[in-house]
Amino acid sequence: MFKHIDNSYARLPEAFFRACEPTPVAEPQWLAFNEALAEELGMLPGTGADALQVFAGNQVPDWATPVATAYAGHQFGHFVPQLGDGRAVLLAEVLDTQGQRRDVQLKGAGRTPFSRSGDGRSPIGPVIREYLVSEAMHALGVPTTRALAAVVSGEPVYREYPLPGAVLTRVASSHIRVGTFQYFAARGDTDSLRELVDYTIDRHYPEARDTDNPVLSLLEQVALRQASLVARWMGLGFIHGVMNTDNTAITGETIDYGPCAFMEGFQPDKVYSSIDSHGRYAYDNQPKLIRWNLARFAETLLPLLSADSQQAVAMATDIIDAFPGAYQQAWLSVMTAKLGLGEVYPDDEVLINDFLALLAQERIDFTEAFRRLVYALADTESPAGPVTLFRHTGGWQAWAQRWLQRLEPVKTGARERLLATNPQVIPRNHRIEQAITQASETGQLDDFQRLQRILRQPFDVTPEDLQWLAPAQPHEQVVRTFCGT
Ligand code: AMP
Ligand code: MG
Repeated sequence: MFKHIDNSYARLPEAFFRACEPTPVAEPQWLAFNEALAEELGMLPGTGADALQVFAGNQVPDWATPVATAYAGHQFGHFVPQLGDGRAVLLAEVLDTQGQRRDVQLKGAGRTPFSRSGDGRSPIGPVIREYLVSEAMHALGVPTTRALAAVVSGEPVYREYPLPGAVLTRVASSHIRVGTFQYFAARGDTDSLRELVDYTIDRHYPEARDTDNPVLSLLEQVALRQASLVARWMGLGFIHGVMNTDNTAITGETIDYGPCAFMEGFQPDKVYSSIDSHGRYAYDNQPKLIRWNLARFAETLLPLLSADSQQAVAMATDIIDAFPGAYQQAWLSVMTAKLGLGEVYPDDEVLINDFLALLAQERIDFTEAFRRLVYALADTESPAGPVTLFRHTGGWQAWAQRWLQRLEPVKTGARERLLATNPQVIPRNHRIEQAITQASETGQLDDFQRLQRILRQPFDVTPEDLQWLAPAQPHEQVVRTFCGT
């Protein structure tokens, strides 16, 4: 089915996983299949019926070595020494057409030794949500896990009431998380930890090998990737919702789309997740919380950073202390591009923050406001520009003058920068809900498919599709999102 398979994780010592086959489902049917990704993965054509059985978990091909991986994690600040794949099975690793190693994982494939009291299943809702949002993130240029396939199982999943069950095939550079390191650190299993570090460096950070201290370099590189990732989230108004350490991928990819949401009206402390009652993972807390997660990662590495424990702490502390600066750089580069500016000037931070403050004052739609900037280049009063979004336009006018002045020396290319960094559309929460409701109540997939199609090219949208993905009307607004697992 795939041209090149090489299951390296399953060759690691037994402590890293439990062998575990997916549990077959009653009557699988396609929900979605990602042709473009399949091609990228070197998937051989003509495998329709087989593929359905494999992606449902009904058939375990001979090239698969299915395992549930072990990990721990801080969930909302509380450490849980054993979590692990409770509803996911890592099927195999594919070497894609670029020679990159990619995990192929079934999510919602039945109980595993890590399921605790869970059923190992997923209702159709979270599968559709993850399919749409992860693929949209990819199209928006954000590092993320991907969705290769989704199938309905033909079996109900029992939550508050019965829902159609589904299985998602997720593709990731790997599924190693901060929590994977915590799993071994918490057990004092330094040998396994060392093995995990070596494996991670070889697989994801080979350049760290050539440095004086590869473990330190690993920490440094992971921190940089996370800084860049969260900066990109912030630039899209994306709120992950469950930034627990078990949901923080070591590769710097966005992983685990649970109660995530794209913010509409801009509100810095916005929270959607129903389980985040204290706003730990609010929009503007994300940079702080990723740093907290990186500090937990750093702690696991202490015994390997240096034989001298004080020196190890000092090394780790340096990197965690440097994180806010690294993040700020990443954020400035995202946000200046969104304003059409070229390189970052010292005063840009103020200019960006003043624009965000204007949006916050009237809770202006984040996506629309940035996208409309392009029309203000020629005329700040243009009705197609942001001006029409404001009730009080004085603040906008004053800001726009400063912005145009700052743009003056870099005006060539500004239009292109604005158009390339500010998407026309994001996955609007109410449309995702609409697609989920339609699929789960009627079995129809029109809205799901329409969203897939539009979100594949979020910078190039027809007026009709744009209208459909406009900000929610007050009665359409989604105020809460749920894990739904
Ligand atoms: P999450 O934060 O949603 O990624 O999940 C946290 C932990 O709960 C992970 O160990 C999951 O594998 C586990 N989990 C979530 N949903 C289920 C389920 N339906 N059955 C078994 N385990 C689950
Ligand atoms: Mg998770």
